[in-house]
Amino acid sequence: MPEGDSVYKAAAKLRAALDGQVLTRTDFRVPAFATLDLSGQTVTSVVPRGKHLLIRVAPAADAADSAAAGTGSAVEPSAGLTIHSHLKMEGVWQIYGAGERWRKPSYLARGVLSTASKTAVGFELGLLEVVPTASEDSIVGHLGPDLLGPDWDADLALANLLSDPERPVALALLDQRNLAGLGNVFANELSFLRGVRPHTPIGEIADPKRLVALGYKAIMVNKDRPIRNLTGLPRGKPRYWVHGRRGEACLRCGTRIESDQLGTGPTDTRYMWWCPSCQK
Ligand SMILES: [Zn+2]
Repeated sequence: MPEGDSVYKAAAKLRAALDGQVLTRTDFRVPAFATLDLSGQTVTSVVPRGKHLLIRVAPAADAADSAAAGTGSAVEPSAGLTIHSHLKMEGVWQIYGAGERWRKPSYLARGVLSTASKTAVGFELGLLEVVPTASEDSIVGHLGPDLLGPDWDADLALANLLSDPERPVALALLDQRNLAGLGNVFANELSFLRGVRPHTPIGEIADPKRLVALGYKAIMVNKDRPIRNLTGLPRGKPRYWVHGRRGEACLRCGTRIESDQLGTGPTDTRYMWWCPSCQK
């Protein structure tokens, strides 16, 4: 799963290429929006919300009449629309100059947005849909405070996390309704950095406020780094304390890192890693 810092970076890249520009060509390679044509629309903002990417477009004032004629698609481009994507496992947006060859095969492309000088291609997106901007809440309204958003509220995030004190700390951190932006990497690494196992009920950990503060700090320092790094070690050394390091030596104490699945069902099962000595 993507982490909020990846989505934040993807939004920054898309914003640099598209914001304020008129779309000259769009291609939505998903059945519900295959006939939708947003060419002539202006990109008005690109916003990350947790792990969701929102590209907002609006008709140019003088193009509104022709746009209102209708397209037969699920949405009409006569009012503000939001192109909503979620990267899920493998999704990525890439930016190309005019005529530049794509670095991924065309059949993996789900969405293509071109301006006069740039083309943004969304490959292997877990989700791509277009909704009226006025109903964005139906997509992101359930999200808790966004670690990288203007709505960040540490006290509310803490209250949300503690509302279910029995929940394992890692699963509580992953639940986007509590706070938005953390994925499995951060859930594991934050558990290590606080010295608690990912399975520990969140209600039992000492000073959960520090956990929230640490999560904020960790994602903030990584939001502009090209490569995420939680250990602060130089290139070539492990970037993560425990995530993905089963059987390897703990960077602090040398104990072998353990891993297991954690969760209660098919949609709530995650791999967890921890150091049995450093994390109690
Ligand atoms: Zn250790």
